[in-house]
Amino acid sequence: MRVYNFSAGPSMLPLEVLEQAKAEFIDYAGCGMSVTEMSHRSKPFDAIHNECIALLRELMGISDDYEVLFVQGGASTQFAAIPMNLLSTGKADYVVTGNFAKKAYQEAKKYGDIHVAGTSEPDTFTYIPKQLDVRKDTDYLYICQNNTIFGTRFTKLPETDATLVADVSSNILSEVMDVNKYGVMYAGAQKNLAPAGLTIVIVRKDLIKEPMSYCPTMLSWKVMAENNSLYNTPPCFAIYMAMLNLRHLKKLGGVPAIQKVNEYKAGLLYDYIDASSFYTNKVNKVDRSMMNVPFTTPNADLDALFVKEAGKEGFVSIKGHRLVGGMRASIYNAMPVEGIEALVSFMKEFERKNG
Ligand SMILES: *Cc1c(COP(=O)(O)O)cnc(C)c1O
Repeated sequence: MRVYNFSAGPSMLPLEVLEQAKAEFIDYAGCGMSVTEMSHRSKPFDAIHNECIALLRELMGISDDYEVLFVQGGASTQFAAIPMNLLSTGKADYVVTGNFAKKAYQEAKKYGDIHVAGTSEPDTFTYIPKQLDVRKDTDYLYICQNNTIFGTRFTKLPETDATLVADVSSNILSEVMDVNKYGVMYAGAQKNLAPAGLTIVIVRKDLIKEPMSYCPTMLSWKVMAENNSLYNTPPCFAIYMAMLNLRHLKKLGGVPAIQKVNEYKAGLLYDYIDASSFYTNKVNKVDRSMMNVPFTTPNADLDALFVKEAGKEGFVSIKGHRLVGGMRASIYNAMPVEGIEALVSFMKEFERKNG
């Protein structure tokens, strides 16, 4: 039986995508072998790789002014790759809105003069700072657009002339984004696209240059761009799964269609939480994430009971992150509307019994 999986990542994939992968797992397209066994220089893999890039370009509206790179090491490796590839004045400004933004900031400090342009840390990251202090000569302004752990998101991008660099790991393909507003966007694929192992970097071509001399070859965007991300063995199977998921998303009507569904799903959950005197979401309303919804009951004992009882009913991985406590429902593209409806029914019943 399939459960309702609220994991923040790796997370749910559409059942249809999993079924397709299963059907062709042992013999891909009459090749007599699995994608997991295939040379990354072979014709069938080349077709997968290029279709995946083409679909991503089509669905996100990525113009020829941008490179689409497939890299490894997770989003966290880009915390170092970003300053090594982008710094030239040596200055960069960071908005620290959560755990991952803070890690990116701390990593960048190893490579340059890094300044905090805004932070909500004193208020436990419950909102997105609106007034930013961005230096005139900064090489870039860094944001984490959706804060997976704290459940906040930039619903509007900062107004700035600086090159915008955004971690979109947990909101890529969930809502329409104007790629042209960004210098760089990047995402670990395991939240909303594919299994772990693939990281996507979308970078404006004029920003690609020789990185710092000590930058490892594998972290050089220039090297990856010059080799169509096939400098070494890429995460072939994750790329294949991403391709299947992108085909699926295209069939559903693309990003605008899934955005509507995501707005509806998040609305169901937030509306219920707001109407209830039992459950609380601490995030500033205008800054709420559409993908990650943290919430609490009146006390920690009830939170623990909630997680336990929910597990018995097939709602899994709904325990909040250790930094926040309570619960967190991660409701990426693959979470069906029925999953949210079932969760809300469960929450009502739990409130009735324990409220
Ligand atoms: C999960 C996550 C990361 C870390 O990703 P890894 O691929 O595990 O390194 C970074 N940023 C955000 C916003 C995330 O959700």
